[in-house]
Amino acid sequence: MEKVDYIIVGSGLAGILFCEVLKLHNKSFVVFENESQHSSTVGGGLYNPVVLKRFTTIWKAKEQLDLALPIYHKLEQSLNTKLDYKIPVYRLFASVEEQNNWFEACNKPNLSQFLSTEIIYPTNTTIKSNCGFGKVLGTGRIDTATLIRSYREHLENNKQIIKETFVYSEITFTISKIIYNEYEALHIVFAEGFGLTKNPFFNYLPLRPTKGELLTIHAPDLKIDFVLKSSVFLIPLGNDLYRVGATYDWDDTSPNITVKARDELLIKLDKFLKCDYSVVDQVAGIRPTVKDRRPLVGQHQHHKNMYILNGLGTRGVMIGPYVAKQLFNFVEGRKPLETEININRFN
Ligand SMILES: Cc1cc2nc3c(=O)[nH]c(=O)nc-3n(C[C@H](O)[C@H](O)[C@H](O)COP(=O)(O)OP(=O)(O)OC[C@H]3O[C@@H](n4cnc5c(N)ncnc54)[C@H](O)[C@@H]3O)c2cc1C
Repeated sequence: MEKVDYIIVGSGLAGILFCEVLKLHNKSFVVFENESQHSSTVGGGLYNPVVLKRFTTIWKAKEQLDLALPIYHKLEQSLNTKLDYKIPVYRLFASVEEQNNWFEACNKPNLSQFLSTEIIYPTNTTIKSNCGFGKVLGTGRIDTATLIRSYREHLENNKQIIKETFVYSEITFTISKIIYNEYEALHIVFAEGFGLTKNPFFNYLPLRPTKGELLTIHAPDLKIDFVLKSSVFLIPLGNDLYRVGATYDWDDTSPNITVKARDELLIKLDKFLKCDYSVVDQVAGIRPTVKDRRPLVGQHQHHKNMYILNGLGTRGVMIGPYVAKQLFNFVEGRKPLETEININRFN
């Protein structure tokens, strides 16, 4: 029997960010991963503190960014891979009214630090932009696909990942420990994203899956070095490739790409893009979203060494490090979880 401090189920953003906190505190762990979910590997990876539809900040934007960016920087060093691409986000204004709303938002105390007051009129003729763009500050993109792939390789090298489906019915509980296969653990943390729906210990929680699809296009004449936000995001990836997305579908929970999503994205894209392009890829994933737009973090009601880290929603890059740290402090330091994220709000 191998003794570990933690068993972690899932190595998407939630799982690996929790592993990072464990490493920092010299805790031993083993991860189970069955590659059934792909939200973290297909996601756009953007970090952006502003909700660009309504011009509001996201919950705890500054706290999340201040914590997250040094962690991704540290991961870049330990994995020896570039992950954080600092890139501005430009919000395309569809009307003068939107411009006015932007200026109003610039004056709000919590937003002013993230919004530039200068309206940008691009010289680039490949984008329809009569009313120009507003620039969001402090934004960027984490290459989450590379992060997840490199992190799993790193775990594999250290014999810390088991590429198998975790079978919930095979857990044995002793007074203070959890036995699973050949592992004896002090704690278990479930971080399965949408896979939570199969977890009998926590699937009473109101996870509301939101499927998202993204296209990759090749557009040699586009030549933009900023993320463009119109009705969809256009994210430069280098080599004239751009990611276009994403869709939001609350009914379809299949992992497959669809013609419907491709058509929807292309219709939206063609409203503002005026150059030739070809579609070279399409991906789909299920975002683990929650009705009240807050994560699902906490402890099982009866099994006190069983925990959940889920519900990262549409913004896992920013909120993941924040909630991973909170869960660790709760388990090891008995520090109470913030009420907004604690699953006991659903008891
Ligand atoms: C199209 C799209 C675009 C997005 N764009 C952005 C963006 O620009 N910025 C941003 O911040 N966020 C974005 N997101 C959201 C972000 O990707 C999610 O918040 C995040 O990936 C959730 O991570 P997770 O680890 O909770 O879930 P997941 O990534 O789903 O990871 C869960 C893992 O658990 C594994 N698993 C599940 N069940 C089991 C089991 N029984 N045994 C073993 N393993 C199991 C799965 O295989 C998976 O690897 C986007 C998501 C999508 C789909």
